[in-house]
Amino acid sequence: MVWILLTILIMICNSIKIDVLLYHLLYHIIKNMGRFYHGSIEGKFWFGVQSSDDISNLVTIKPEMSYSWKACHCCAEFEIDIDIDNNEDKYCKDCYESKEEHEESVIEEDGENEDKLLYYEEQSICYHLDKDSHYDELKKNMDILKSKIDPKITDEFDKIEQNDKILDAFTGVFDNSLKILNEIEKEKDKENNKNESDVNKDYLELVARYTIGYQLEYCLRTTEDDCYVNCEC
Ligand SMILES: [Zn+2]
Repeated sequence: MVWILLTILIMICNSIKIDVLLYHLLYHIIKNMGRFYHGSIEGKFWFGVQSSDDISNLVTIKPEMSYSWKACHCCAEFEIDIDIDNNEDKYCKDCYESKEEHEESVIEEDGENEDKLLYYEEQSICYHLDKDSHYDELKKNMDILKSKIDPKITDEFDKIEQNDKILDAFTGVFDNSLKILNEIEKEKDKENNKNESDVNKDYLELVARYTIGYQLEYCLRTTEDDCYVNCEC
């Protein structure tokens, strides 16, 4: 998605010779839009290196599509059947007394309800992990990942205090690991030609995956419930 926007942006800039400063400003706005994940764990996917379905690389699991109710925008994911024909009578029971009442509210908001359904597909996917099915496999894959990452980085992960801050990447728990990663990358750039950025990208992808895996491992180990992650696409 971001690449499409960037390509369009470059095309526009080339054709109308847009001011260089404005170009850079727009570039940074698009670049920083980012994709987030939330639920039992919170964070942001690494731009340009990490895909939204990266959890599937850590455990054998298929993501579910997410759905929301029209008008009230409540989450509808568990109530939607894969077979679309079974969904025509469904409505948000938290907000409306009947299907008709929900429908009225949709028409009031959108002017019409073309597909007759009362929900829409979100631009995100969901994962539900539980300890019994996924913990051992995750742990095994995390060990394999760890062996591929510079020990200076994984040492910083090992030093992280085991508390709920891990569940939220925005608390800064991974800052030290990132700092070391940046230093190592800078060193590499100095030694090598800049053209080796493809190799770097693969390496960064591993560290990004290790980070989300680290959060999931803590989540599964410490919670009695399942771990649920909603990932923006
Ligand atoms: Zn609702």
